[in-house]
Amino acid sequence: MELYSPKTIEDIRRRYGFSLSKSLGQNFLTDGNIIRDIIEGADIGEDDLVVEIGPGLGVLTAAAAEKAASVVALEIDSRLIPILEETLGGFDNVEVIEGDVLKTDINEIIRRKRREEAFTGKVRVIGNLPYYITTPIIMNLLENRVEADTITVMMQKEVADRINSGPGTKSYGAISVAVQYYCTVSKVMNVPASVFVPRPKVDSAVLNLTLREEMPVELRDRELFFRCVRAGFGQRRKTLSNSLTGVGGLEKNDIAEILRRTDTDPRRRAETLDIGEFAAIANAAYDYLAERETN
Ligand code: SAM
Repeated sequence: MELYSPKTIEDIRRRYGFSLSKSLGQNFLTDGNIIRDIIEGADIGEDDLVVEIGPGLGVLTAAAAEKAASVVALEIDSRLIPILEETLGGFDNVEVIEGDVLKTDINEIIRRKRREEAFTGKVRVIGNLPYYITTPIIMNLLENRVEADTITVMMQKEVADRINSGPGTKSYGAISVAVQYYCTVSKVMNVPASVFVPRPKVDSAVLNLTLREEMPVELRDRELFFRCVRAGFGQRRKTLSNSLTGVGGLEKNDIAEILRRTDTDPRRRAETLDIGEFAAIANAAYDYLAERETN
C-alpha cells in the first residue's frame, strides 16, 4: 500500500494514536500524481540537497529521497518523529529534524550538509506548507537569504496568485513585489482541495521560486524600499501622494518633490507601479532624506 493512500494514513493514525492537528496546518497529501508533479516541478537532481518544510508522514520526503543525494526534513510536531522514522526507515539519505522552521537556521543546516559532503549539486527547498504561516515562512527564507537555488512549495491558491501577479491586477500587492524582488516566480500547478486529508476549505497551488543571483533593481536602502512598498499597498485605494505618508518622516510636500524627481504622477496608486518604479521612488526618497539631513 502506498504511503500517501488514505488507508495508510488511517492505519498510521490508529497504530500511533495520532490525531491530525488543525492548528499545525496538517492537511496531508493523498494523491501520487500530485506528489510526483511537485517533485518534478522542483527539478531535483541526483547531486542535490533537498530541504523539506513540514514532512508530515513523509510522502514528499520519500519521493524526494529517491531523486536527491540528500534530504533534510524539518517537522515541528514531535508526535510525527517516530512515525517518520518508520515511514522513511528504508532511506539512508534522509535526516529528520524536529523543529520550528521559523526558528531554525536553515543556512546552518545547508552549510553543515556541504561540510559533510552530503551533496555537491543544488539546494532545493520544498514543502506542502502549513497554510497558517505560509507568508512568514517564505519571507523568512528570502529575508535571511536562504542559500538555496529554488523553493518549490504548495500554498493556498489565493496566496500563490498574490505572489505571482503583476501591476494593474487585483491580487498584486506588497507580497508580490517582495517575493519578485528576490526571485523569479512561476506556477507549477493548481491543486484541488479534494486531494488532501482532511480536505481544506480552499484550493491550493504550487509555485516555483528561483532565487535571483542579481537583484532586478538597485536599491540605496532596502529597508526604505520595503517601507515604501508597504505604505503604498497599506492604503491601496489612495493616490501615492496620500499613501506614501505611511512611510513615516515624509510630509505631503516632501512626497510631491520625490514624485516630481522620479517623474511619477502623484495621482497614481501603488498597484500600478512595477518594481522598477517603486525602486526609483525609494531611491529618490533616500536621496531627498539624505539632503534634508545635511541641510
Ligand atoms: N508534507 C506533508 C504532506 O504533504 O502530506 C504534510 C504537509 S502539512 C500541510 C504541513 C506540515 O508542516 C505538517 O506536518 C505540520 O506538522 C508541519 N508544520 C507546521 N508548522 C510547522 C513549523 N512551524 N515548522 C515546521 N513544520 C511545521
